[in-house]
Amino acid sequence: MSTHLNGQDKTALHAALAARRTQIEAQQRSHLAGQTRVEHAREVLLQDGDDAPQRDADREVDLAISDREVVELAAIDAALARLASGHYGLCSDCDGEIPLARLKLEPQALRCVACETQRERLRPRTASM
Ligand SMILES: [Zn+2]
Repeated sequence: MSTHLNGQDKTALHAALAARRTQIEAQQRSHLAGQTRVEHAREVLLQDGDDAPQRDADREVDLAISDREVVELAAIDAALARLASGHYGLCSDCDGEIPLARLKLEPQALRCVACETQRERLRPRTASM
């Protein structure tokens, strides 16, 4: 199965996906380390008992960032799987070609702009994060 992307395009997009994946994994590791530090700080501060609300807020921000990373990582893995199966670059909803310019900006994109817009309209955004 071939798409509008040539071998060189696919190689470049694969490299971009792999690089982004490595970057997210590094971020996740640093968040995990950060959470361990937060837990440690919590234990220390529980003995003093001050400043608790601020620390909880920090932790929530950390978790929100991790969630986004998990979602993006899943999208990247899906894109890599589609690249391997030869379906990469085709919209997962309408099978239309996703323009190379869009893929260069967002290599993990699984849908064409029209379908992505449609989806975002149907799915209400969860509160401002
Ligand atoms: Zn589409």
